[in-house]
Amino acid sequence: MGNPMKKFDVTIVGGGILGTCLSYWISLLFEGDVAVLEQEKDVAVHTSGRNTGVIHRPFYLHPEKRKIFARSAQISYGLWKKYAEIKNLPWKEVGTIEVATHKEDSPVLERYRQWALQNGMKDEEVAVLTSQEVKQLEPEVSCVAALHSRTDTSVNFRLFTESVKEDAIQRGVHFLFNFPVTRIQTNSNSLLVYPQLGDPIETRFLVNCAGGNAVDLIHALGMGFEYTDLHFRGEYWEIGPEKASKIRSNIYSVPRHKDLPFLDPHWIVRSDGRREIGPNAVLVAGCDAYEGFSSSLGQLVRKIFERPLENKLRLMINPDFLKLASQEWVSSISRSRMVQQVQKFVPALEAKDLIGKGVAGVRSSVIDRQGNFLKEAIEISGPMSYHILNYNSPGATGAPAYTAFLLHRLIQKGAFTHLQHRKTDPTSIWNFQEIVRELGTAPHFPTGKWGAVPNS
Ligand SMILES: Cc1cc2nc3c(=O)[nH]c(=O)nc-3n(C[C@H](O)[C@H](O)[C@H](O)COP(=O)(O)OP(=O)(O)OC[C@H]3O[C@@H](n4cnc5c(N)ncnc54)[C@H](O)[C@@H]3O)c2cc1C
Repeated sequence: MGNPMKKFDVTIVGGGILGTCLSYWISLLFEGDVAVLEQEKDVAVHTSGRNTGVIHRPFYLHPEKRKIFARSAQISYGLWKKYAEIKNLPWKEVGTIEVATHKEDSPVLERYRQWALQNGMKDEEVAVLTSQEVKQLEPEVSCVAALHSRTDTSVNFRLFTESVKEDAIQRGVHFLFNFPVTRIQTNSNSLLVYPQLGDPIETRFLVNCAGGNAVDLIHALGMGFEYTDLHFRGEYWEIGPEKASKIRSNIYSVPRHKDLPFLDPHWIVRSDGRREIGPNAVLVAGCDAYEGFSSSLGQLVRKIFERPLENKLRLMINPDFLKLASQEWVSSISRSRMVQQVQKFVPALEAKDLIGKGVAGVRSSVIDRQGNFLKEAIEISGPMSYHILNYNSPGATGAPAYTAFLLHRLIQKGAFTHLQHRKTDPTSIWNFQEIVRELGTAPHFPTGKWGAVPNS
């Protein structure tokens, strides 16, 4: 006779920063068996461990159109700061200088300052600088004007996720690694979740936090066909020590194509002190296509023509998209293309200063029926399941607050009535009630419906 089937009250698919933080909150509030199913052998192997590593302050996020990420990032800043201090994790407050390289970009900087204040940043955290003031701060940087966001901070989100995982395990969460979910079967009052090989587990409720696979997973359950996605690889180059030591802040430029997933590369300071430039945004076949093209060309064509086709067809007739996508392919092959983009604000940078490739990450951007890239996270509710799609940047920054509010919504929707509440735990670094109160009373945060939350 085989082993009895493992049964869980709540199962999260995906051990990135999103799924891991959510598991922590559930274990803090509820008794019951909670599992995180992760296809890899540890957490944060994909995007959560392969990003720029910046705690983004929300100056560049429109307080209305990007309110979910703006509020989550603002509240999470304080949460991560306290967490890093108590856990002794890297926290390097280097600041970000967002430069305008063209005169017509300058008005954006004052707008960003206003957004920063509307999103809850303090007046002394942000300042608009002239080109001379930028030179005093960073002599190697040239621009027309800039916004200085003093509290942007370099961290290591992989270390954050691993640490939150340990906290969750201490509170009883089961992390089942090497468990690639391939199929989900619906029973009358539970779901059977199958790995590629081996026995399924049974769960009363499932939360899809599968990052770049979240769209595929919801499609496998027969839902979410109004959305599709494309994957963009972001590559970085490391700067040699001589040039690296000359710039101490992150340098970003005002994005020129706000509605497309292509940003000009930045100069970034890693939490261990390394300097890199990147990322570009190279269209690739899959969410784990960290290098190469040729072997995956057929896969890329299949990805572009997968169901629902209509969303991507609209995108494929957008000339800006096609032009920028082809330029990004060039930047993947030629380091001088990447350097040229950064030379717009660091003119002394040369191709010989790039000493090697850094760790690439993949952004999976969701596209709607009109062929638009969506800017906010999307939540879709299904029978016994809940799905988070398009959880993109600054998602790592916003994860603790976003997942607290996500859990609050799930509780309100009655998803966890099968679980017993736990007594308040005074040893927790983060306080659930405080965060939910803060989010609920925030001027720009929707207390009712937010994102797309159709009930099925
Ligand atoms: C290039 C780049 C730079 C970025 N820089 C920043 C930054 O500086 N600051 C910031 O705040 N944000 C940044 N972001 C965004 C941030 O990294 C993401 O929002 C965040 O990491 C998403 O976390 P996640 O848990 O949703 O996804 P992931 O980290 O991708 O986690 C999803 C997990 O699900 C697992 N999984 C998937 N499918 C299955 C399956 N079928 N079965 C089992 N497991 C499965 C995967 O293995 C993975 O571990 C950046 C993103 C990119 C791409």
